[in-house]
Amino acid sequence: MRTILPIVIAASAVLAPSCSGDRAGSDATRASTAVTHTSTTAATTSATTTTTSTTTTAPPNDLLAPPPTVVPNLPVTDGLAPKLHRVPTTDRVIFITIDDGQIRDPSYLDHFARLGVPFTSFLLQTTAQADPGYWKATTERGGTIQTHTITHPNLRVTAEAKARTEICEPADVFTQMFGKRPTLFRPPYGNSNDMVRRIAAQCGYRAVVLWAGSTNDGKLTMQDGQLQPGDIILMHYRTTLNADLDDVAARARAEGFRIGRLEDYLTPG
Ligand SMILES: [Zn+2]
Repeated sequence: MRTILPIVIAASAVLAPSCSGDRAGSDATRASTAVTHTSTTAATTSATTTTTSTTTTAPPNDLLAPPPTVVPNLPVTDGLAPKLHRVPTTDRVIFITIDDGQIRDPSYLDHFARLGVPFTSFLLQTTAQADPGYWKATTERGGTIQTHTITHPNLRVTAEAKARTEICEPADVFTQMFGKRPTLFRPPYGNSNDMVRRIAAQCGYRAVVLWAGSTNDGKLTMQDGQLQPGDIILMHYRTTLNADLDDVAARARAEGFRIGRLEDYLTPG
């Protein structure tokens, strides 16, 4: 059994207000959860997570999306990694992405386990290195880890050599830390340009991932009002994360969507 200490680090001056929080996360009941993809003809276990010593079979999870019906073809074009706000798909699926990582409350791990859906963490290298055990614990609860630079600069006003280090170095560091090379990159503040997309492609990322909606203070707001197939949701490791997750789950249920794994659509295999 790992020991996870709550660590709260104030957002640094380089972060936008949207990258910090102000309320302590609520506690949640530890639960045993199996993350399972199902379809009408077959059931495929993609990951199984057990957080107690007693293994139980989780009830059917109405939020969990089946595997993609079609994996979109998103090639590097003219040397530029594709940039996405929404995954091109007709599947009624949305994607949870959670950025930065300054606030690492143990209650988030319980909440991930209880929800039992995939989520992608776009971590700063600094916050990843501050607590590798916490982030490994997220991967045991349905999470995957991708990159979000080292120090959260505005890459539109960053010199190319510095931008290359910020974009590429975390891929190497996370490969060492977590045993799996990141395949997706999210630029801080969503600030991308051709230089960012070119560097991202050169250091092996398959896509630059932006978002179609975001959560704030427990409320999901979509740029197009309603959820659309393939929408990527921006969230943060801030103190409202559990409430934010609950609102995304409620909206998905209300509008007939399920939660998918971003990598299943963008970088399968
Ligand atoms: Zn950020």
